Parts: sequence; structure tokens; C-alpha cells
Amino acid sequence: MKQFKTESKRILDLMINSIYTNKEIFLRELISNASDAIDKLKFISLTDTAVKSDFKIEITLDKENRTVTIEDNGIGMTDKDLEKNLGTIAESGTLAFKKNNEGKTDNELIGQFGVGFYSAFMVADKIDVYTKAYGSETAYKWSSKGVEGYSIEQTEKDGLGTKIVIYLKADGEDYNYSDFLQEYKITSLVKEYSDYIRYPINMMTTVTKKKEGTPDDKPEYEEVSELKTLNSMVPLWKKPKAEVTEENLNEFYKNEFHDYQNPLKSVYAKIEGAVTYDTLLFVPARAPYDYYSKDYKKGVKLHCNGVMIMEKCDELIPDYFGFVKGVVDSSDLSLNISREILQQDRQVKAIANGLEKKISAELKKMMESDRENYEKLFAEFGLSIKFGVYAGFGMNKDKLKDFLMFYSSKKEKLVSLAEYVKEMQEGQQDIYYACGESYEKIKSLPQIEKAMNKGYEILFFKDGVDEFVAKILIDYDGKKFKSVSEADFSLDTDVEKKELEEKSEELKDLLLAIKDALGDKVKEVKLTSKLVNYPVCLTALGDVSIEMEKVFNSMPNADGKVRAEKVLEISSTHKILQSLKTAFEKDKELLKTYAIVLYEQARLLEGLEIDDVTGFVNAVTEIM
Ligand code: ADP
Repeated sequence: MKQFKTESKRILDLMINSIYTNKEIFLRELISNASDAIDKLKFISLTDTAVKSDFKIEITLDKENRTVTIEDNGIGMTDKDLEKNLGTIAESGTLAFKKNNEGKTDNELIGQFGVGFYSAFMVADKIDVYTKAYGSETAYKWSSKGVEGYSIEQTEKDGLGTKIVIYLKADGEDYNYSDFLQEYKITSLVKEYSDYIRYPINMMTTVTKKKEGTPDDKPEYEEVSELKTLNSMVPLWKKPKAEVTEENLNEFYKNEFHDYQNPLKSVYAKIEGAVTYDTLLFVPARAPYDYYSKDYKKGVKLHCNGVMIMEKCDELIPDYFGFVKGVVDSSDLSLNISREILQQDRQVKAIANGLEKKISAELKKMMESDRENYEKLFAEFGLSIKFGVYAGFGMNKDKLKDFLMFYSSKKEKLVSLAEYVKEMQEGQQDIYYACGESYEKIKSLPQIEKAMNKGYEILFFKDGVDEFVAKILIDYDGKKFKSVSEADFSLDTDVEKKELEEKSEELKDLLLAIKDALGDKVKEVKLTSKLVNYPVCLTALGDVSIEMEKVFNSMPNADGKVRAEKVLEISSTHKILQSLKTAFEKDKELLKTYAIVLYEQARLLEGLEIDDVTGFVNAVTEIM
């Protein structure tokens, strides 16, 4: 007996104790796996004529033994495959479990993995898998009763493919598992969830027929077994658009992409032009657990004349829309198109362009008329779009800038750049933004107090990439991006500016003395009119902002060399100024101590760590 990997064990446990009320989905999951397996072998059969091509899925119900069997003649699994595929849920599963500690529910957790094969444990107390892989002489049997573990042994099996025997749980108060032994139940489930599977799903059914030879006026009946194909086998994308409902699309998506949630958006399109193709595109409701890692593989399923030739055709979807899942079926492509020539293929390029246009148009529509869902999408995949703006020195920025959303200080929700610009105050030249770790922290930045009081709208940048996005965009609709943390950010009128200049001139020596006390920790110390209640803030000169310094220094290879040129700004109206003046006149040592405290405070307010903890503690102690 082998043990499941820890993570798998937990998922299994959740499955068995069935948090899903929707237990019947196990059938669609297993049928969908069977169909995938046939897809793979069918593709091989194009070049290997020895492969038999009577592809089908067979369901057998055995009331006596309480088993449901699902058999396919697809690609099958080797012992290694069994180990890898059924012994573990997801190789980087630990990652998702970490996330769970951040308060995800178990339901969400399972959803991140896709429910898959293990869902069968919702209805089974034992599962046997008999399988023989393409290219293998030996067949194997995998068997498990759940969490305790599983076994793999050699077995005998005719033909390629996989047979899964499900031993149903005993009926209980909570659920009548015997339902799954009823032909009508299975028939209706297949119709509901798996109708468009492209291979026949066959089941022996009992039908009552008139006995042959009995007279019409005195008929006698008998029960006979008859093989019935339960599904219509028309792929969803081949059906006339008018016949395809939202419900059909949702079911298809969940089936095909092993998700338990409906997609946020489904798109069904038949494109005719230089290349003709049908496509179904989906935006998932949730980012897969590995979406933002290098393990994630984007792409849509590529079919050619009803044969799936690639499971994830990377070339068809740009990175920034990598979250889009879907199917493309074209009869214009050559069946034996290989990975190598795909990138150069003119037709593939034409499809990729078409898909990008379609996705862009749909996102735009969503943003305009289905804001709630667009915001959900942006919460999950907005980072992907932001990286897209920044990537390649901004080569795609114009295509993507209208999909961006940022949190507005004024509206207290996400707004687009177009919306921001439209609402700018009279005389406002720039798009104002402020950076920080969280909206809460940004809200309490000293340097935005006055701007907020004056009613300016400020965009809150909380993702590390946000400011890089602003820098690469440079402007939106002719309006430049301006950080409130730039040293020259000012909302003063000319008169106010003049006043500040005069006051600064008057206190020149004091400011210089503070600068001297801080050495090269800061580039400059100056008076400011930005602040209302706070005594100080820290801003930056030049191209590297304090936020960018943070981002660079949090990177794995950071050497701490990227430094913002910091400016310590002291409020021109705060009463602290008087204490500073007094110290400057009477006690130069005390002024140095004040300088240290002010500087470290400003760092804290900016979300930086204290530079010199001992120095700071000594300074505070001394003052006290
Ligand atoms: P998913 O299908 O989402 O990858 P599953 O847990 O359902 O997750 O299945 C894991 C893997 O096991 C599949 O990716 C596939 O490689 C393999 N597998 C499952 N069912 C079959 C089958 N009937 N024939 C061949 N391989 C299968």
C-alpha cells in the first residue's frame, strides 16, 4: 500500500466528506477525462495506422455489485502515469495550501485544483482503475479505498485504454447513492453535462419490447438489452449559435477545463475570413493557484477537423490574456502542423490576431456594461494585464491601457484612466498617484493629506508593478502621471509658492544644519506646504521613487544599490518648527537628535524600515 502525498490526502479527505453537494459531477469529470484520453490517442492514430479508431466511452451499471464502470479506449496510463496522475493531486499543491492559510475556504481550495478524478470518492468507497497505455505491453490496476492509500499491480487487460470501476457507497440518510445505478439517472446526467462529447458514450439499457411472433391484438412483452448512445456528439461550437444557451457554455467550460465554478464570461464566435474557425472562449472566475508562476501554461485547445491536435496552443493567446481558456476548431489548418512551424504559420497568426481582437472587444464591453464582473476579472487577472503593459518596453501599452483600473481616493473603488481624466479638476494638469503596500497605508501617507482635503482624486498604487506601469505609459490622454511622493509635487498657487520660498530662505541655515546632521541619508531637507497634520514626509528626486527602491530591493538578487534620492520635507506650518528653531539657536547637539527622530519617523510613514535602530532608540530616549 502506497501513501498519498500529504496534500492529496487532504483533498481526498475533503472529497470523501463531501463538501460538494453536487456529487453527481463525478460522472462528467470521468467522462471528460476519458474524452481527453481518446483525443490523445486519436491524434496518434493519424500517424500510427495500427491504432484502432473505433473510439468510444462505455458505461456499465451493475446493480448486484453496486458498481458504475466507465471505460474508454483512449491512450491509457503506464504504472508511472498512474503514480504521477492518481497518486498526487498537483505537484505544486503546497503553494495553494499556503494560500489557504490566508483564509480560503476548503471549497475554494478544491476548486483551485480542479475537481478531477478524485471527485469520484464523493460517491465511492473504493475505486479500481484498470489501464493499458499506448506503447506498453503491460496493463496495470490501481486500487484505493480512499485516504489510507492506494496500490498498483500488474493485471490483464484487452486493448488500450482505461476502465474505472466505482464501488458506490452505501445509501445513507444524506444521500441515495443507488440512484447512480438507475439507467434513467445516468442517461439524464450524460445529456445534461456531457452531451457534446465528440465520442459516443454508450450504455446497455433495458427496453421493453413486444415479443416477436406474438399477435398484435394480444401482444406479449419482454425486456431486452440494447446498446444506446446517450449523447448527441455534436461539439458545442458546431451547434448553431441560437441553440447554445449560457447554461450549455457554463457546463462545457467546467467539463473541459476542470473547474467547479462558472466562468465570468463566455464567448461563442464563428469567424469567417482569410481563415475560418469556430471558437469558444472563457474567462475563469478565479486565477489558478499557479497562474502567476512560471509553471502556468497558457493556451487554448486547438482542433482541426474535429481532431484535437494540441491541448494548449500557446501561440494563439498573448501572455497578458493568458488567463483566457477556450477551444479553437478550424478546418483550414493542416492536421500535422507541428510545434516548430506553428509560430510561423500564417493561418495560426491570423487566428491569434482574431482571438486577441475578440477578447479585447469583449473585455471592453464587459467594462462598460458588466462592471461588477469586470472588477472581479481585474481582481484576479489585473496583474497580468499590468505586466503586459510593462513588458517589452511597453510595446503593447496602447492596446492595454484602457483595460487598467486603479483605486480612486475619491470614489473609493476602482476607476479606469479614462474615467479619472474625465473627472480631473479644473486646472489640474497631471494624473496624481500615491504608492504603498495597502490602500489603508496609502491613505495615511502625510503627503496626500492636503491634496485629499482640496478634493483632488488620487490613484492608489498598491501593486509593485503599478508605478512601473505609470512610468512606461508616461501619460494617458496627454495627461502625465505624477506621484505625490515626488519632491516637486505641489498644489500651491503662485502666491503660496512665493510665501514658502521666502520662509525657506529665512530658515536656510536651520535646514542646512539638519541636512548636515543626516549626512548622505538624504539629498535635501526642505520646507513644505503639502502637510496638514504631519510634521514631516519623505519624498524623492529623480527617476527612482521610494516605492521603486522598495520593489528593487525585494527582488531575489537585490544588492541594495538602487536607492531613491530622498528629500526630507518639514511642514512649514507645524509647531515642531519652533522647537527646531530653538534647538538650532541654543543646543546644536539636540538639533541633531531631533533630525534623526524626524528622519526615521518619515521613513516609517513611507513604509520603510528604520534605518538605524540603535541611533533612533538613543535619540528618542535622550529627548524623553
Ligand atoms: P485533470 O484531468 O484535471 O488533469 P484528474 O485528477 O482528473 O485531473 O486527472 C489527472 C490525470 O490523470 C489527467 O491529467 C490524465 O493525465 C490522467 N487520467 C485521468 N483519467 C484518465 C483516463 N481515463 N485515461 C488516461 N489518463 C487519465
